[in-house]
Amino acid sequence: MISKEALNEFKAIWKKEFGTDIPDDVALKEATNLLTLMNVVYRPIKKEWLNIPFENEEDRSFFAQLLSKGDEKKLQEQFFDYFDFRSPEIKRKEFNSLRKKLLPILLKRDKGICQLGLIGCEGYQNLVVDHFVPLSSNKLNRKIRGLKTHNGKKPVSQSFGSNNIKNLMIACDHCNSLKKHRFLNPTTRELI
Ligand SMILES: [Zn+2]
Repeated sequence: MISKEALNEFKAIWKKEFGTDIPDDVALKEATNLLTLMNVVYRPIKKEWLNIPFENEEDRSFFAQLLSKGDEKKLQEQFFDYFDFRSPEIKRKEFNSLRKKLLPILLKRDKGICQLGLIGCEGYQNLVVDHFVPLSSNKLNRKIRGLKTHNGKKPVSQSFGSNNIKNLMIACDHCNSLKKHRFLNPTTRELI
């Protein structure tokens, strides 16, 4: 954990500071204590400690309900990578450049079968890459905030899903087109 070089450097600093030579085992112990202290004081920031920056707090509750049985802590810890709030255009471009490369990896992971399994599912045929949490959707604006199509204008979409491999799955063409910009409850398979 501490290199010989670093240990010698530590011993040199020790000598300068306290005027005494210390043997390797003592130096190692002192240096380890110091490192432990530094780790406690200057803990590196882990993404799990950052809150998923939802536009509205009720969106957080919605996704907790959808993905982690209402457990917001679990949503934070296990589904952090499912979200990316950059503009949907950028994410769509990124997805288009990635999808071909990701298809064989996902086919292997998902055992070559559609993960949606909706009525009329094509199973092993016509498989594509789909998102659990869509890149963008206006479903929450409709469902939670009750916004409706007004003068032919649909409620505005919000950016949600990421292109992280965890948020991607194999789906057949049929299920993919049924799902559209809706969300899939992974437990009940209900489309919301
Ligand atoms: Zn299917």
